[in-house]
Amino acid sequence: MLIMSYKDQINIIQVAEQEGVELRRSGTRHVGCCPFHEEKTGSFYIFDDQRFKCFGCGEYGDGIDLIRKLHGLTFKEALKHLGIESGGLSKDAIRKINQRKRRRKLLDDFEKWRGDYLAYLGTMINRTMKLMLGRIPPADLDLYAPLLHGLPLWKHQSEILLKGTDEDKLSLLKEAHRNGKYQFRPRT
Ligand SMILES: [Zn+2]
Repeated sequence: MLIMSYKDQINIIQVAEQEGVELRRSGTRHVGCCPFHEEKTGSFYIFDDQRFKCFGCGEYGDGIDLIRKLHGLTFKEALKHLGIESGGLSKDAIRKINQRKRRRKLLDDFEKWRGDYLAYLGTMINRTMKLMLGRIPPADLDLYAPLLHGLPLWKHQSEILLKGTDEDKLSLLKEAHRNGKYQFRPRT
């Protein structure tokens, strides 16, 4: 999902650490000494839904609440404190963040495709090598011709996917896409 809201901008763990709370991970939660009351053992918890709660003094809320309560700020002031303008992010900032997200997703998708295609190439190469080791009877050569014919290409493509430049990988991806085999399909 592409972001629009200020909430996606705030990582409460980062916020708490910026405010000097030392956190350690405890399962899916983070725990540290509460910034709202004096304590030696941590009872201040941050949960993976981006909310905090102190089991000592009872303070709770999200990242904005944390800043608001710590510094006695209004909601707008707290946003500003976090470097987020009250009117929300500028269109340009949103565009940049979305661009980064799209790029990261595309890269993830590409890595998935690369893994699948490499597995396919590996299977084809192994199958052909086995046939060659088993000495193909001349009568069956026609049958296996496509495999033998494909071998150098598959080896070449594997090399590209393993050690090639990004440009080479990209042109291979386009080629595979055109051939209709192992098409690159970004998830939507
Ligand atoms: Zn507390």
